[in-house]
This record gives sequence, structure tokens and C-alpha cells, in this order.
Amino acid sequence: MKDSFGREITYLRVSVTQRCNLNCVYCGKSDCAKKETELSPETTEKLVRAFAGCGIRKVRVTGGEPLVRSDICEIVRRIRSIDGIETLALTTNGVYLARYARELKSAGLDSVNISLDSTDGSTYRHLTGADVLKKVLEGIDEAERAGISPVKINAVLMKGVNSDGAGELINLARSRKIDVRFIELMPFSDEGENSSLIVTGDEILREFPFLKPAEAEEGTAKYYSAEGFKGRVGLINPITHKFCSSCNRIRLLSDGSVKPCLGYDTAYDILQFIDDESRLREEVKNIILKKPAGHSFGSSDAGHGLNRTGG
Ligand code: SAM
Repeated sequence: MKDSFGREITYLRVSVTQRCNLNCVYCGKSDCAKKETELSPETTEKLVRAFAGCGIRKVRVTGGEPLVRSDICEIVRRIRSIDGIETLALTTNGVYLARYARELKSAGLDSVNISLDSTDGSTYRHLTGADVLKKVLEGIDEAERAGISPVKINAVLMKGVNSDGAGELINLARSRKIDVRFIELMPFSDEGENSSLIVTGDEILREFPFLKPAEAEEGTAKYYSAEGFKGRVGLINPITHKFCSSCNRIRLLSDGSVKPCLGYDTAYDILQFIDDESRLREEVKNIILKKPAGHSFGSSDAGHGLNRTGG
């Protein structure tokens, strides 16, 4: 369905937990240890079904870290079973991906985005607080072997922290059929609020002039490629090129509330209507109609960290 600004809302991001096994510096540190707000696979399915009834066609499972849930494959399987859901994707830090890739594929997962901010072991450890780069790289390999497609990498660059590793990340798109996407740092933590750390999409293009525009834009990313590249480089620029006017997303949080925009704290509880299917759908429609025109990064009511909201 369309929201009140005429945007067709087709994409639901489902945060299945606030817990995370990493502690990324830019992500916001609140609530990482909470568990009590997680919904069961059955409840998640019921809620997502209501969204599908309102026109949602694509679901991305995220968190926190979705793979810290031992029932993650059951969640994926249940979402896959919902009529109308055409694409089912997952965003993960990749640490447990080698363990789950095959089972996720059989449960119906189409594609995966893996967060990888550096291919250098000590920089990776500094950014995430954990010495697990090798496991993440194994997770990427295993996802490809399991036939999950596409496999994409998400990276957030920060000046003087990991920005000098951009070339190595781009090399992954050169040598493998993998899209490497750079997301501009958003203001969700002390680091995120330090705008001098942001590496903009335009700066990346200046540093790597061999990158030339590839096909049309896909969702929020603009894609680039170069001679001999097997994959593409994507730029996601929420700070320098706001894409709110074409935003088609809405978010279900792990406590059963719904957040119409990442940029605001406002969230609406729908769990109270779980046993009334038609009321649930009505509430989802009402919330979609409340989606604001654009995000408020930089203002005092800008949203919390993505570990809480779901990245
Ligand atoms: N744990 C999973 C992961 O690491 O991919 C899913 C959740 S994480 C919050 C989702 C994505 O949000 C990651 O790709 C991460 O890089 C991105 N992210 C988190 N904080 C961010 C920030 N301040 N600015 C830009 N991207 C951010």
C-alpha cells in the first residue's frame, strides 16, 4: 500500500533480537544484552503475515545479530511460508554464518548481506571488539557454496580508522562475484556523531576513479564497476544523498513494535493485537500512513543505535 506521501511500502525489516556477539564502535551500545523482548517464530510469522496483507513483498531479517538465535532457521522457514513474500534476505555479521548457511538456504533464504568493515585482522578486532575475521571470511565462502545469492558485503568506513582498507574491500568485488557496498556512517554512537569521521560516497569515487556507474540504482544503493570486476561496488549515502523520498521500508522491532522511520524513536506496539488478524492488519495500515516524509539525523529525536532498531 502507499503511505501518505505516495510511497509504495513493500519492504519490511524484521529485527529478531537486540543481542549481538560483536560490539561495533559505530553501532550504539544500548540494550545489547537484553533477551526478554524476542518474539517466538510463531509470533513473528503472524506479525509478518499482517504486513504481507498490506503489500509487503520483501523481508530482511536482521538484528542485533540474527544468527545468535538458535531458532533462526525456523524463523526464516516460517517467513518463507507466507503468501506474498517474494524475497527473503538476511543481514549478519557473518561470525556464525558458516555454521548456518546450508540450513538457512534450505529454509528458504534467498540472499545475505554480510557486514565486513576491514580485511585486516587487527583493524577488524578494533572495530568489533572480537578476533573473528577468519570466521567471517569462512562464512562468506560457505554462503556462496550453499547457493545463497546474491552475497553482498556491507562496510562502514571511518576516516583514520579503517578508511585505508577501502581498496582491499573493493578488491573483493574485483576478484569475486560479490557486491561490496559502502554505507555512510550514520549518527548512532559517539563515533557516528563525529561527522569528521564520515567517508562520503563522493570521496570514495574520487579515490577510486576507475569505478564507473553500472546499471540502474537498486533500492538505496548506486552501483559501480570497473574493467575486469566480477562483482560491483555499491554506495549507500544516507547522509549526503538522502533517499527518503523513495523510501519503501518499515521496521518490525524485536519487541513487537513497529518503527516507520529509522531516523525517529517513534515506534508503535502491535503485539497487543496478535490474536485479532483483521485488527492487526488495520494497525499496520495506520502505522504505514504515519511514516514521516524524511529522517531527522542531526536533530534531538534522531533514532537509537541499529543494534536496537535493526540495521
Ligand atoms: N548484526 C548484523 C550485522 O552486523 O550485519 C545486523 C545488524 S547491523 C546493525 C546492520 C548493518 O547496520 C551493518 O551492516 C552495520 O554496518 C550497519 N550500521 C550499524 N551502525 C551504523 C552506523 N552508525 N552507520 C552506518 N551503518 C551502520
